[in-house]
Amino acid sequence: MTGKMQAAIVEHFGKPLVLQEWDIPTPGPGQILVKTEACGVCHTDLHAASGDWPLKPTLPFIPGHEAIGRVVAVGAGVRLVKEGDRVGVPWLYSACGHCEYCLTAWETVCGKAEFGGYTKNGGFADYIVADPDYVAHIPEKLSSEQAAPLICAGITTYKGIKVSEARAGEWIVISGAGGLGHLAIQYAKAMGLKVCAVDIDDAKLALATTLGAELVVNAKQADAVEAVRKGTDGGAHGVLITAPSLGAFKQGVGMTRKRGTCVLVGLPPGDFPTPLFDVVANCITIRGSFVGNREDMAECLAFAAEGKVKADIELQPLSAINDVFNRLEHGKVAARVVLDFAKV
Ligand code: NAD
Ligand code: ZN
Ligand code: ZN
Repeated sequence: MTGKMQAAIVEHFGKPLVLQEWDIPTPGPGQILVKTEACGVCHTDLHAASGDWPLKPTLPFIPGHEAIGRVVAVGAGVRLVKEGDRVGVPWLYSACGHCEYCLTAWETVCGKAEFGGYTKNGGFADYIVADPDYVAHIPEKLSSEQAAPLICAGITTYKGIKVSEARAGEWIVISGAGGLGHLAIQYAKAMGLKVCAVDIDDAKLALATTLGAELVVNAKQADAVEAVRKGTDGGAHGVLITAPSLGAFKQGVGMTRKRGTCVLVGLPPGDFPTPLFDVVANCITIRGSFVGNREDMAECLAFAAEGKVKADIELQPLSAINDVFNRLEHGKVAARVVLDFAKV
């Protein structure tokens, strides 16, 4: 396929994205070309465009790692995916397939992994080249707009809840009830957990209650940690921190029950202080978690296809991306914005 496509490009870190016409990329051997129908806007895209993290993308690049679309061309040797299939191009764009991590279903930490919308051009464009071995396969029942947030926000929180090791009937704290958090609450409920949602915004907490959270706590209140400990009778068995704010991390450790697990998922740049005595004496586990593997992807999509989880989405055209970024940065997005490529 030849011709031009619209793309939102990061030319300089910390500057507005530039809408430009780029050549439609050609899939090489073993690659596929996907025509984008929808792409969610994740807070990670904001970190990427701001150059927040130690390992930065090479400029210029196209962000976006929640893209869903149809396969319109396949390169030589592609067998797993065919033209017309509907796929998602996720953050885990590809991995080596042979290292100790890939062989044990931890391809997310493969040393040769590539990341969609970061080390490879992503979904803020009409077309994307993808690796057929790593795309998500989208169930018929889900629209592309509905599926988009699931392939990053969904999988990340579903996996994060699993590795918290909290079991049905136990408490989980979801800190940050935004794009990731509003899905985390729903996965946690579907997995039989009791949910305590924590956020700094009362509107987000109201949505959390609608989604089934038994307890909500505003993180800005002075005794937020105590309120959670009291409401959960000694702290939550699992804590999932999705907030892109360092303050949430120390609080989250304090909200963890003895022998519980605090899972770090939010990625604000920097470090946070850890109260060593409390962590040691209470046998608390602090654990990082990074998206999920391909089996986690299939499972998290199945929850949505069965109607147990539904992303709360606001549709916007690609041309609105800078306004969307601005609102996301200031906590003014209700849950998740999805770029709708049928809109202009
Ligand atoms: P978002 O902006 O949609 O949501 C963040 C939410 O956190 C908002 O509701 C905001 O009000 C709330 N918040 C802000 N400060 C808070 C605080 N101190 N305490 C409690 N809540 C607070 O962002 P998102 O798209 O959900 O992404 C969240 C973070 O997760 C980002 O840092 C992103 O890079 C990261 N992320 C990590 C992974 C991973 O694999 N580990 C995957 C996706 C996203
Ligand atoms: Zn993401
Ligand atoms: Zn590998």
